Amino acid sequence: MSKQTRRESRLERLCAERGIRMTGQRRSIARILSEADGHPDVEEVYRRVAECDPRISLSTVYRTIRLLEDEGIVERHDFGDGRARYEPVGRDHHDHLINVQTGEVIEFTNEEIERLQERVARELGFQLIGHRLELFGSPIQPKKRKNGK
Ligand SMILES: [Zn+2]
Repeated sequence: MSKQTRRESRLERLCAERGIRMTGQRRSIARILSEADGHPDVEEVYRRVAECDPRISLSTVYRTIRLLEDEGIVERHDFGDGRARYEPVGRDHHDHLINVQTGEVIEFTNEEIERLQERVARELGFQLIGHRLELFGSPIQPKKRKNGK
């Protein structure tokens, strides 16, 4: 038996706390999601896990991510390209701006937006407990100069 010395990832710990039975493959998937700094889709997670565990199947990755989503451990995003993207819940709150030309996802926070949302909710008689905000945009091109000027 080889001794596991690798540190448990944050998601693995969360899974353990929720009493999710952790197989080796589920651990690998949780670890990849923990370490990903972007917003990978299922196929990307599959590709990364398969690098260390070539026997894993795409459907196992699908099922595991669905399980993590149902348990509130990862959050699903729809960035408008028809592919579900995932990121761990509980990172610092941020919103997303999607470059529709490249698909690049930029994370941002804006105090003013946060305050405005609180206010809107309050005015409607609600206490805000969360929100999702996705902005879609294309980069502003610098204006072309006329020839000779
Ligand atoms: Zn994000």
